[in-house]
Amino acid sequence: MKAPAAPVTQDVLTLPRKVETSKPNLIGLTRAQLRDALIEMGTPEKQAKMRVNQLWQWLYHWGERDFAAMTNLAKDYRAKLADHFTIDLPEVVSRQVSDDGTRKYLVRIAGGHEVEVVYIPEEGRGTLCVSSQVGCTLTCSFCHTGTQKLVRNLSAGEIIGQIMLARDDLGEWPEKGQGTGEGGPRLLSNIVLMGMGEPLYNFENVRDAMKIAMDGEGIALGRRRITLSTSGVVPEIARTAQEIGCLLAVSFHATTDEVRDVLVPINKRWNIDTLLAALRDYPKVSNSERITFEYVMLDGVNDSDEDAHRLVKLLDGIPAKVNLIPFNEWPGAPYKRSSNNRIRAFATILMQAGYASPIRTPRGEDIMAACGQLKSATERARKSRAQIAAETGLT
Ligand code: SAH
Ligand code: SF4
Repeated sequence: MKAPAAPVTQDVLTLPRKVETSKPNLIGLTRAQLRDALIEMGTPEKQAKMRVNQLWQWLYHWGERDFAAMTNLAKDYRAKLADHFTIDLPEVVSRQVSDDGTRKYLVRIAGGHEVEVVYIPEEGRGTLCVSSQVGCTLTCSFCHTGTQKLVRNLSAGEIIGQIMLARDDLGEWPEKGQGTGEGGPRLLSNIVLMGMGEPLYNFENVRDAMKIAMDGEGIALGRRRITLSTSGVVPEIARTAQEIGCLLAVSFHATTDEVRDVLVPINKRWNIDTLLAALRDYPKVSNSERITFEYVMLDGVNDSDEDAHRLVKLLDGIPAKVNLIPFNEWPGAPYKRSSNNRIRAFATILMQAGYASPIRTPRGEDIMAACGQLKSATERARKSRAQIAAETGLT
């Protein structure tokens, strides 16, 4: 099947934003947007660049939230900023800590919606799993998020805000007068866009937030420390390389269109061949920056030796590693996790063909923080797919 060259569309419900008389939030503005905002407030154009630099450091290097504390700005300028703007992060509603140290934050955003953010501590590093949407318009049949009815895109501020609130909780802003804290291992050293939502259906906001995270004058996470996971929104893949430049992961999960159509329904729009062609062209691909193929191991569905051999053939010519994800079950899930022996046999075939194929250890299962288990508390009551389709007009 030749995939039609249809424009990217998404069916996101328009939800009433909280009616706010409040001032605009500076968090999430790009440098260019921040400059415009400061000029509009009355900052002389020739000072604007310097003011942007100063503010940027306060917001994203020091993690300062109080204009009054920005001591290298004149007092009346600080007061003016406070009159015009706020510095707001999404509100943390609850924080759960798993037996293995994984932290899950339930975060409330404008409109009262909730998303989940997961921090996974590892030896000498730590990864934050960031959400890009409330829910997801796609309906991958093994994913809990895909059963959530409510969907809206997160703003750039709500995305970068997740990183900032995790740094708050980890106490990871540099101490003033104590050096910058650079050099040592970071608690939050890596970002994966693998939380709720399809990041490439919210491209601009994800891009702007990641640019802020990568900016060397602030949070300064290198582009290779950020991995964006997509279910395969083909037209946005090249753009991801050009405009974000981060690492790419693809939710592959099947080796035939027949099976992938069911597991990852976006495959009906952009099938395996079309997806692989886009990945072969991913401009930044090199051996040191391999594409990660995520492959969820579902008992009797996609986990046979034949699947492993087919996968090896499909990957030919793409610098790739395969991340095998034991299926994380959720209430009412229609699949079972493959046995450990099956997963190991599958991994062995990939390894013999020269592909690194680590088996991902599920983290934070006791707090439902593992991959694909995220679903906000407001939507906890499980709805059937048919119900969701009927209510949203999605299929
Ligand atoms: N929407 C994006 C990113 C979020 S999902 C995407 O689909 O790529 C992050 C990863 O978790 C994806 O590979 C997804 O397929 C996988 N996943 C979803 N549900 C899962 C589950 N129940 N068990 C294991 N992995 C799951
Ligand atoms: Fe959405 Fe990703 Fe879940 Fe599919 S796997 S429903 S694209 S969040």
